[in-house]
Parts: sequence; C-alpha cells; structure tokens
Amino acid sequence: MKITIVAGARPNFIKIAPIIKAIEKRQSDGANISYRLVHTGQHYDKNLSDTFFEELNIPHPHSNLEVKSGSQSVQTAAIMVAFEMELTENPCNLVLVVGDVNSTMACAIVAKKMNIKVAHVEAGIRSGDMRMPEEINRIVTDSITDYFFTTSVTATENLLKYGANPENIHFVGNVMIDTLTQNLSRIAKPEFWDDFNLVTGDYIVLTLHRPSNVDEEKSLQKLLLGIDRLACDKKVVFPVHPRTKAILENTNIDFKNIFFAEPQGYLAFMYLIKNSFAVITDSGGISEETTVLGIPCFTMRENTERPETETIGTNTLVGITVENLENAYAKLIQNGKRESGIPELWDGKASERIIDILLKK
Ligand code: UDP
Repeated sequence: MKITIVAGARPNFIKIAPIIKAIEKRQSDGANISYRLVHTGQHYDKNLSDTFFEELNIPHPHSNLEVKSGSQSVQTAAIMVAFEMELTENPCNLVLVVGDVNSTMACAIVAKKMNIKVAHVEAGIRSGDMRMPEEINRIVTDSITDYFFTTSVTATENLLKYGANPENIHFVGNVMIDTLTQNLSRIAKPEFWDDFNLVTGDYIVLTLHRPSNVDEEKSLQKLLLGIDRLACDKKVVFPVHPRTKAILENTNIDFKNIFFAEPQGYLAFMYLIKNSFAVITDSGGISEETTVLGIPCFTMRENTERPETETIGTNTLVGITVENLENAYAKLIQNGKRESGIPELWDGKASERIIDILLKK
C-alpha cells in the first residue's frame, strides 16, 4: 500500500508525526506499506513549520508544493493545481489528510477526482459555525472521504447524521495526544523562562489567532487590556501568531502583566502549558492538550467542534467578550480547578490503530 500523506500547517505537522512513526514501525515488522510526505507550504515560517519537523523528527518532505499565503480561494486553488501534478507524477493507493485546514480540503478533492481513496484523520468534528473556514473544510472533506478516523463518539455521531456509511467510520482516538504522549519526557523550558522570571504553576499562557478575535485591532486591544487586568499579579506569556502580530504592529500599549514572545516550538510550548496556572486560547488543539494535562483552559470562542474538552476535560467556552472571560476566571480563582477526566481512547495509540485498520483494507 502506497500512502500519500498531506500536511500544510502547524497543527497538521503535530498530527502526522505519530502517523509516520506508526507506518515506519509496521514497515520494520515487514508490512507492505510505504508513504510519501507532501508539504503544501501553507505554513512556511521557520517558527510554524521547520521547527516542528526538527523537534518531532518528521522526515524531510518528499515534495513541497510551496503555495504560501493567499486568500482562501487563491490558496485552495494553488494547492489543488500543484497537488494534481504531484499525484499524476507519483501515483498512490490512498491520500491521507488530517485536520481542517485548506490543504486538507484541497488535497481531498484532488485525490477523489483522480479516483484515489481518501482517509481523513480527525473526521466528523463540527462547530456548527459556517463563518469558520475550517468548518467548510471539514464538511467538504467528509463528504468525499472513504475512511473516517474519529477522535470522539460525538464526531462519529455527526458523520452518521450526515449519512456516512457506519462501516467506514473508525473511532480511533486522538493523534494530537499521541504526539503529546510520545514527547512529554522531552519537553524543555523556553529560552525566555528565566528572563521572564516565570514560576511553575503561577503564570497564564495566552494564544489568539482566530479572525473573530484578532482581525479588529480595537477589539483585540480591549481583550488584551482585559486579560492584563484579570491576571492581577500573574504573568501572562503570549506567543504571538504571525496573523495576530501583523494586527498588533502599531499597538503601543504598556501592558503590566503580558509578556510577548515568538510562536514557540512544540517542546517549549508544551513545557509552558504543562507548568502553567491556566491557559486562555482560541485554539482547538490546545483545548485538547490542556484536557489531557489537567490544566484549566478558557476558550475565547462562541462554539467548539471539540465538546468533550468541556464535558469531560478542563475547557470552558467563554465566548469572545472579556467580561465573560473575567467571570469564568473569577470562578477558577474562587473554587479552584474543577474535576476533569480524559476522553475515551485519548491514550497515545490512535496512530497505530489507524495504520492497522488501513492495512486490513
Ligand atoms: N503550538 C505550539 N507553539 C505555539 C502555539 C501552539 O507548538 O506557540 C501548538 C499547540 O500545542 C497545538 C497546536 O500548535 O498542538 C495548535 O495549533 P493552532 O493553534 O495553530 O491550531 P488549531 O488548534 O487552532 O487548529
């Protein structure tokens, strides 16, 4: 079996790392399976791409389509054109896509139109929010997927509701958590730890990059001022995503508690999260990682495609106003951490399950 694996953006790299490891393990056991790794070039900054390949020991991609930035349609179209050529020159039996970025949807469409089977890892999750480009990517990808690999019972139920054949849906767990499990013993202090005088368990980590939070400069400033205030005497470490950095370029506010940093590599970022008091974010992946690490997480969004991080895990969906965040944070200060657990099959073995299932096809 020849699999082409597609990765384009930071969360994709974190998801493919354990899948490639699982393939290589089966190869060394003598299984007839090989892969070709295609980087679409959607994320190309060293901080968002190369660092993850180096730290997670992901092999150098066999091909880089180098599409870079563009509007939603320009980027999607560029990926499709380049990926069609890639598949024509390098035929395979299966295209495996992960997550919900433009590369996921674009490459799934190209593969399906070339009569190549599509496997989607992290299939079936839905926010119900069609203003999110990711939601459109999820729906389109799942409408043409042959093998669905889901992270939760809810995701499986969503697919059944949309009419997917139950035989093609495999609840395998969460590959993001495979990466976390495999690398927890390697996490390491970020370089700025001592400069910022961080104390274990006594600082907050902040990440924001969704258009609804960062694209309006004034409301982003209001949100940051609110977070600066609610932190009281706790430091807030804010690795700033390039999208957010561009908006904040002309902001000249003297924050008391917020410490700005570059986007972090995986090992430093997970060290920061694991040793924090709490996390404020609009990332879906981070709400999964904080759930497994038992760190309180406040998600600055009105909906989530990962409801189990709230019902089972440590995540609280607070909406996008700073007032709601202040109320939710006050409850944590007053009552301490609430009880939480780890969702079913988030046990570090999802990738092995995926490859075992594909080998039986
Ligand atoms: N991440 C990281 N460094 C950072 C910020 C995030 O390594 O400075 C990791 C994080 O731990 C998670 C992933 O990147 O595994 C989430 O990426 P992102 O927030 O871009 O995507 P989303 O989860 O929103 O799809």
